[in-house]
Amino acid sequence: MKKCPICRAGRTHEESLCRRCGSDLTWMLDTQRLGRSLLVRAMAALHQGNPHKAAMLARRARFVHTTPFSRVVDDFLTYLDSRECLTRHKQEFKKYILEWDQW
Ligand SMILES: [Zn+2]
Repeated sequence: MKKCPICRAGRTHEESLCRRCGSDLTWMLDTQRLGRSLLVRAMAALHQGNPHKAAMLARRARFVHTTPFSRVVDDFLTYLDSRECLTRHKQEFKKYILEWDQW
């Protein structure tokens, strides 16, 4: 989270208290971390050949913390069997995979 969701002040990634308004952002940071962790587990499950488990984890990640990446992964895995959807999401998915380090 680049900005405090309360006052919109810029912040560094790991500060749990906002410097401007003093809001405790711990639970939001924990939620982000949980979402990322679920996405990583989803990708690992997909890599291990378990698309059903991957889809379930991706759905949970999207529910916990929706990001453009979690949306794309969830959609990709949900529609994996549909050739049309697979093609549509493939480019978007590739783009986010390449930007993975920024998440
Ligand atoms: Zn703030």
